[in-house]
Amino acid sequence: MSKSDLFAKYDVPVPRYTSYPTVPQWGRTPTREEWLSSLDRAVTQQDASLALYVHLPFCESLCTYCGCNTVITRDHKRAEPYADLVLRELDTYLAAVPSVGECALRHVHLGGGTPTFSSPTELARLLDG
Ligand code: SF4
Repeated sequence: MSKSDLFAKYDVPVPRYTSYPTVPQWGRTPTREEWLSSLDRAVTQQDASLALYVHLPFCESLCTYCGCNTVITRDHKRAEPYADLVLRELDTYLAAVPSVGECALRHVHLGGGTPTFSSPTELARLLDG
């Protein structure tokens, strides 16, 4: 495909890339039971693996182009209780769908936000969890 064909192909308005499936594809929000059942089916498939996204929303200042779900603050102490909640959410998943804990974790993406807003110690605690 030539460069001009590529430009023609991709020079179109598209949804923001930060969610998959993208927002226009979203239908009805699943119930908790539907979501956990779907997760259980996915992780118990043969050769299943997980890609994990952890949203760390904090930034010290707001970029002019930001469209992310972010919390602007210079109070770095806020990262600790947030990490506690993320780890509690993980425990909820592990209790509801134990097979999640046995599935290979192939990718971890820390997004935000600015992941380095958290201290190295705090990030290590989160990733260890
Ligand atoms: S989330 Fe990203 S784009 Fe938004 S303010 Fe923070 S660093 Fe900037």
